[in-house]
Amino acid sequence: MKVALVDVDGHHYPNFALMRISAWHKMRGDEVEWYQPMFSNPDLIYASKIFTFTADFTEYAPWDPIPIRGGTGYDVKSSLPDEIDRLLPDYSIYPEIPYAVGFLSRGCIRHCSWCVVPEKEGTIRQYDDIERIAQGRRRVVLMDNNFLANDREFVKEQLAKACALRLGIDFNQGLDARLVTEENARQMTCCHWRIASGTSSYIRFSCDTQQMLGPCKNAIRLLREAGYSGRIFFYFLAVDPEETVERIEELLSFDKRIDPFVMPYRDLNGDGRVLNPRLNDLARWCNMASIRKSCSFKEYQSKGMKGHESASSVRESNLL
Ligand code: SF4
Repeated sequence: MKVALVDVDGHHYPNFALMRISAWHKMRGDEVEWYQPMFSNPDLIYASKIFTFTADFTEYAPWDPIPIRGGTGYDVKSSLPDEIDRLLPDYSIYPEIPYAVGFLSRGCIRHCSWCVVPEKEGTIRQYDDIERIAQGRRRVVLMDNNFLANDREFVKEQLAKACALRLGIDFNQGLDARLVTEENARQMTCCHWRIASGTSSYIRFSCDTQQMLGPCKNAIRLLREAGYSGRIFFYFLAVDPEETVERIEELLSFDKRIDPFVMPYRDLNGDGRVLNPRLNDLARWCNMASIRKSCSFKEYQSKGMKGHESASSVRESNLL
């Protein structure tokens, strides 16, 4: 059988579902390729879309089969059958990617109002092992939603393995600052932190609300006391530009070695667009450190410096 894949969001980072679908079909002896409307002639098409705001792919040849569509961008509840879900991903469909990707756990213990994870994945559960995910690769991108919410022994075991194997790791969705303890801070300090591109090293957290400032400062303090001297990256969900700037400035004044990254709030019940265009300006100002360090957000706006290249205004572009 000939199987064609459509990565609706583009090829900026690997689509984990398509990688496992590809592995499953290849295991059955099927041919798998990227879909090309005029040339593929497939028996089966899979289209995967992660983000609600990505425009759908519609350029299917009329004679091709109707695609099987999946991913949060189509349906928040969509999931893979167990036998596919447990497979190791097929890295050959993204030959340019040198790192491993996976989840140590799925789900989350919290219920943040803006987040689809609790609805999609339910509560936290262990899912995989870092050595199995790495498959001999040196860098591992972990997409866990709330790794530190796992059982203490599991957290300990996985961080110890990452450290012993000298893996460059990145929890690219951010860790939960409320769950940093003296023990896991010590272990995190032993780990090698490296984002997928290999260009930066930092531990990621989220500081999405004013209420998170206290826990974030506490997490920074625990990490510094444990001896971590590297950079710490914080996602800042932005709904109100001025309030977000206050949050960013407060954390920056607490520790100079932090990297703030603004994620404009998107209407996930609608078409996923950023509702307040000023939030895009805020993301441009904040996410490009050279701009942020050269002027305040107020000055940035009054100077009309919107011509600057944006580092990126959305979290997902920074995923890997
Ligand atoms: S902690 Fe993170 S993953 Fe969990 S519900 Fe909140 S935003 Fe979602």
